[in-house]
Amino acid sequence: MPCFEISILGGTGGPFEASTQCFMIRDARRRDLASICIDGGVGLGAIARMLRQPAHPGATESLYANELEPIQRYIDPALTASGAATQGFSDRLMMHVPAAPIVQQALIIFQGIGEYYITHPHMDHIAGMVVNSAAVFEPRAPSKKLIRGLPFTTTPLQEHVFNDVIWPQLTHPLLGSLSFSPMQRSEPSASPALPQFDITPFEVHHGARVADPNDTVSSTVYVITDRLTKDTIVVCGDLEKDPEDGPDGQLAAVWRHLAQNVELPRLRALLIECSNSKAIDETRLFGHLSSIRLVGELEALRAAYGVDSLDSLTVLVSHVKMVYADEDPRLTIIDELRQLAAARNGLERVSFSIALQGCTFML
Ligand SMILES: [Zn+2]
Ligand SMILES: [Zn+2]
Repeated sequence: MPCFEISILGGTGGPFEASTQCFMIRDARRRDLASICIDGGVGLGAIARMLRQPAHPGATESLYANELEPIQRYIDPALTASGAATQGFSDRLMMHVPAAPIVQQALIIFQGIGEYYITHPHMDHIAGMVVNSAAVFEPRAPSKKLIRGLPFTTTPLQEHVFNDVIWPQLTHPLLGSLSFSPMQRSEPSASPALPQFDITPFEVHHGARVADPNDTVSSTVYVITDRLTKDTIVVCGDLEKDPEDGPDGQLAAVWRHLAQNVELPRLRALLIECSNSKAIDETRLFGHLSSIRLVGELEALRAAYGVDSLDSLTVLVSHVKMVYADEDPRLTIIDELRQLAAARNGLERVSFSIALQGCTFML
């Protein structure tokens, strides 16, 4: 029985603005529209697009060599064959959405989002959430939402975005609908919207400041665990590998936490960035992973578990950068990951899929 329902509202790392990172997550067993979002790069516009009947079932839009590509090229065919990956929202979600014009349906689904868990305050992770925020006051579909994250995320959002300059201070307590709820590093807390889930934020590295290369930028990995079954998914913001010459291994600490707290078969999916192909000049990663580095992290995860094989762990790959190229970089990267993993002991059976915008995964 699937525990997690993950709808990919946006799954790239830009620079095209309509597909940046936002994952809507539901408890697959609940019979309502309650959900949370990890990041808010996009929002209502992406929900509305997912509500339209697909013009080309089984195919997805690409902006490269072919304008349409079969979704099997992006998603492990075993997931589509079993129904674990589908286009659009799940039937279970749509059961609770009334027949109505798409804008009304989108606002009703938006109403169900109880919390945003923001990984870091870069624009490609917040833009949709900010622009959508006025809709919490929609008289016909009002809602209350929390903006959650570690203080390095919530404080700048409060001071530099919802400050009555860049955007109205819709988080003002007098309005009472949108509020900040800072989290503590490595401390689990229950999701108010989905109380069956405990969510633990881990701080990780995400490059350095342009103006001061010695000053690092942080991001967040969220570990989401079902209290009863202990089924777990890991949802990562932008990140890079731990520095080699420092005592702190923040990503290593995440892998260690998983190995100590989550049985491998209970690890239902790892949703992680792979912004670049292996062709990238390693000095131009700017706080991100490449396919080679992602495979390196999977090896680190396997080592943390102390097992011979990660078996058929589901890895959903997000935040691919839409670079100037002939082939869709999402296809380049998924092919690279499969080839690299096939040649590494213990990673041969790992299942790789792109976190494809407009698709829902039941895991
Ligand atoms: Zn990003
Ligand atoms: Zn970023």
